[in-house]
Order: sequence, then C-alpha cells, then structure tokens
Amino acid sequence: MKAKQLPITCPICGKKREYPVEALVEGARLECHFCGLKLTLHGHMWQEVQGEIKKLARAGDREGEAP
Ligand SMILES: [Zn+2]
Repeated sequence: MKAKQLPITCPICGKKREYPVEALVEGARLECHFCGLKLTLHGHMWQEVQGEIKKLARAGDREGEAP
C-alpha cells in the first residue's frame, strides 16, 4: 500500500510540494523547501486541505476498482 501524497501550493512562492496525507493534520507544521516559509495548517487553509484529502480518498477508491 503506497502512501498518498497531496500537493500543497506555497502561498508565498507558488511552488508545489507533495506531503504524505498522514502528515496533514490540523496544526501540522509545513515548511516550503523553496522559500523557507513555515506554515501551520489551520483555519481556511486546513478546510481546503481537508477537502483535497477527501477528493483524493474518493479517487483512490476508484483506482482500486479498476487497476
Ligand atoms: Zn515557498
């Protein structure tokens, strides 16, 4: 079973970096390796990330049905 990765776009430099879904919890600290921004997942950003995680889970289910 491979870990799911979710790309998060840095609000400062706009670069995407993938994080394992398991690491994305409310209050998680993410660090952009491009510009060094440190951000904490909370508020509306956390809401958006939760939405993306749910979408990813649904897409994963479909992949499982048709390998
Ligand atoms: Zn950045």
